[in-house]
Amino acid sequence: MYGLMMDTPLLISSLIEHASTVFGGTEIVTRTVEGPIHRYTWTDAHLRSKQLAQALQTLDIHDGDAVATVAWNTHRHLELYYGVSGMGAVIHTVNPRLHPSQLVYVLNHAKDRALFIDLTFVPLLEAVQDHLQTVKHFVVMTDAAHMPKTTLPGALCYEDLLAAEDGAYEWPTFDENTAAGICYTSGTTGNPKGVVYSHRSSVLHAYGASLPSALPLSPGDAMLPVVPMFHVNAWGIPYGAAMCGYRLVLPGPRLDGAGLTELMAAEGVTVCCGVPTVHLGLLDHWRESGTGVPSLRMATVGGAAPTRSLIEAFHARGIAFLHGWGMTETSPIGTTCTLSALDEGLTDEQKVDVLMRQGRPLCGVRLRIVDAFGEPLPNDGEAMGELQIQGPWICSAYLGDEPGSALDDEGWFPTGDMAVIHPDGILQITDRKKDLIKSGGEWISSLDLEDVVTRHPEVSVAAVIAVPHEKWGERPLLVVQPAQGTSLSRESVLEFLEGQVAKWWLPDEVVLVDAIPLGATGKVQKSKLRETYGRA
Ligand code: AMP
Repeated sequence: MYGLMMDTPLLISSLIEHASTVFGGTEIVTRTVEGPIHRYTWTDAHLRSKQLAQALQTLDIHDGDAVATVAWNTHRHLELYYGVSGMGAVIHTVNPRLHPSQLVYVLNHAKDRALFIDLTFVPLLEAVQDHLQTVKHFVVMTDAAHMPKTTLPGALCYEDLLAAEDGAYEWPTFDENTAAGICYTSGTTGNPKGVVYSHRSSVLHAYGASLPSALPLSPGDAMLPVVPMFHVNAWGIPYGAAMCGYRLVLPGPRLDGAGLTELMAAEGVTVCCGVPTVHLGLLDHWRESGTGVPSLRMATVGGAAPTRSLIEAFHARGIAFLHGWGMTETSPIGTTCTLSALDEGLTDEQKVDVLMRQGRPLCGVRLRIVDAFGEPLPNDGEAMGELQIQGPWICSAYLGDEPGSALDDEGWFPTGDMAVIHPDGILQITDRKKDLIKSGGEWISSLDLEDVVTRHPEVSVAAVIAVPHEKWGERPLLVVQPAQGTSLSRESVLEFLEGQVAKWWLPDEVVLVDAIPLGATGKVQKSKLRETYGRA
């Protein structure tokens, strides 16, 4: 017997339709690539997304065609999120920080037919245009007044395309399992792999991520996502904002501490989100300039583990801290960490211990850890194994591969992260599988070591990698970026660590650098450090 409820497909267009109907006057504010602040409402965004869908049809883009964006977080990028997917095509958000050879690879691999490019990235695309095999249209995301002189063949102007359409367009209805978006993994080894989101997975992810136990935002909030719309769908915030009706404040290309602070303060931003390095930049700026963002009530961090000192620095300013874990393959949010009623009796320090963990799976997602043979391990807070995940917004295969081919025999997706799961179901990532250090047969967690090092007041960023060792197999090497204006020494770092970590965890070498290399998504690039210092 089947249920007798309406079989309404879960489509991305329904989100913006909802926003325009019930939060129509709510603002979306953008610091544009051209410079000035742009503001409009969900009603405007809806109309323009429809004009964009019409323009795509005029460009002969149809169901299932891939349309790429190389763009910052702006209102135009938001329109592409809705216009492209809403009309049945597939938005491929491209990370502009990829190596040019990988940029070419992903554009060809996804068979992108049209390419929407922010002004900043026009030279990037000009340099590789001869290698692009499928792109028929280049659209520069600006108005006629700012159209650059470009060698991109037949380059079109975004605002002109929209101006030619009236927006009298009905979103089509189709199977909710239709592809809606593509995002490639960062590809630290080999070529990036394409993750293909469906309308169903994106809408369900938005529901899951909008639960109060996940990202607790309401129509009273103003959210500034620093996390880019070209990576992991900006945590699904473009969809969640339409679902929940909070204001969006989009920072465009200015992501430095001063630029973000100014915009957040001016727009009364209440919640921001990004990788830990972005938040470190913010805090550094606040310390140096004596400024802050009085309206900010919560900082949300994901993409890499936050350190205790980062959480405490926000708490010291009366700003709550929310931590989440996820991957490109998990849409991206898999878990978030919030305190529960059971944590009420904890001291402030113990509460930070909890908040440093990656948290509970969003309802709909299941987690387990397995040993090297794929055997499940207990959730006892002690056994460490590779994290596996299941759920309706988790990747089952990469673009071009057989359905299910990314899963193990029992239908679990292996994450490549090492973790323990506590008896209360809370996930704690101990390391990336390839970053763990095996010394004398015992594991050293690079994350744990980095966390302790960054409590040193003169340390800004720290990264620990394994280096081969004749006797012990591997030993930790510590790379440190000192805080600005300090005169940190190797000896002071080692002295600081002594007594705080087991003696055999103490790094064999400490290297001081001006700047630790960051990868395409703003995370510490350990592969680069291994190349330079790993001797392997
Ligand atoms: P990406 O697909 O580029 O977003 O990278 C996903 C990877 O980032 C995960 O597999 C983790 O290794 C790492 N990651 C994401 N969030 C966290 C977190 N909260 N704590 C530790 N590592 C994280």
